[in-house]
Amino acid sequence: MRNGVLGLLGWMVLWLAGCASVGTHAMVHPARVTPRPWRDWAEVFANPVGVRVTAFVTGEVLVGPSILIEEDNPRTPRALVVERWVPAVSYLIEHPTQGAVLLDTGVSPDHGRGCDYGVSPLFHIRCRAAGGQDIASQLAARGIAGRDLRYVVVSHLHGDHAGGLHALLPRGGAVPVLLSRAEWESADSPIRAVRGYVASIIDGDYPIALLDLDRAPSMPILGPSMDLFGDGSIWLLPMPGHTRGQLAALINAPGAPLMLTFDAAHLEANVALQVPPGFVVDHDDAVASLARIGRFHAAFSQVEMIYGHEPAQWAGRGERVELRPR
Ligand SMILES: [Zn+2]
Repeated sequence: MRNGVLGLLGWMVLWLAGCASVGTHAMVHPARVTPRPWRDWAEVFANPVGVRVTAFVTGEVLVGPSILIEEDNPRTPRALVVERWVPAVSYLIEHPTQGAVLLDTGVSPDHGRGCDYGVSPLFHIRCRAAGGQDIASQLAARGIAGRDLRYVVVSHLHGDHAGGLHALLPRGGAVPVLLSRAEWESADSPIRAVRGYVASIIDGDYPIALLDLDRAPSMPILGPSMDLFGDGSIWLLPMPGHTRGQLAALINAPGAPLMLTFDAAHLEANVALQVPPGFVVDHDDAVASLARIGRFHAAFSQVEMIYGHEPAQWAGRGERVELRPR
């Protein structure tokens, strides 16, 4: 469990080559940190960090009946096997000393067809959003520009999570985009469109920091867990299945920690019933990730769970939701 400095340097390795086919990104490194040697999650949660956490609903995407939860699983309630509009959410974490980190960028009206994305008719996602609802506009309304951020973390490279990157980080920007190496390598493929990746998002010009999260120090139940600033405030967790490099995050905020499952679980029912999303690239991985999240949720009931696209969590709350402090 001890987070040795050598181990830390070992897994935060720069990827210096092999990215030519997916744009001209500069490969950068997140700041090196020496994390506290956490014993377990109880110790982490006994030491919350005074972060402010704000959720921004950037729009909604229309998903088919087989997308959010496995249609043919006997545990799946029929009521969930429906086409529905679901929110695409971005999270701003304002740290008292480390600056602001954005987790996901939601959908964007940047693609010339409203905020729809994909490659029609092979893969086309319908989207709806109000003017100014995209993350760049909502942050600008609060006096925050993309360049003011310390990092942008992308949970995975689908259009409802990485769609806002272009508008947020214009050409020549210096803010590193953090994502897992596994996600990047999965997107670096001629068939990325059928995997749900949108080329115009991936081919942007922001600096990229690839995280070898599988080599992060292991924490109880959740396994490899990256303590982003070394103070236990923001944790990045590999939860593959929906995509190869899917991430979840844990925010150790005062009051109660938040777990953001992103698309390891679209809905509360994915965790409660242990039924994976309908769209997965690796079913066994998806089941294993859900099992870890479920065990963690059962062990730490004080953690507030926020799922990737659970409509019930955002209904009637507006486009901006102050999650912490509350
Ligand atoms: Zn999604």
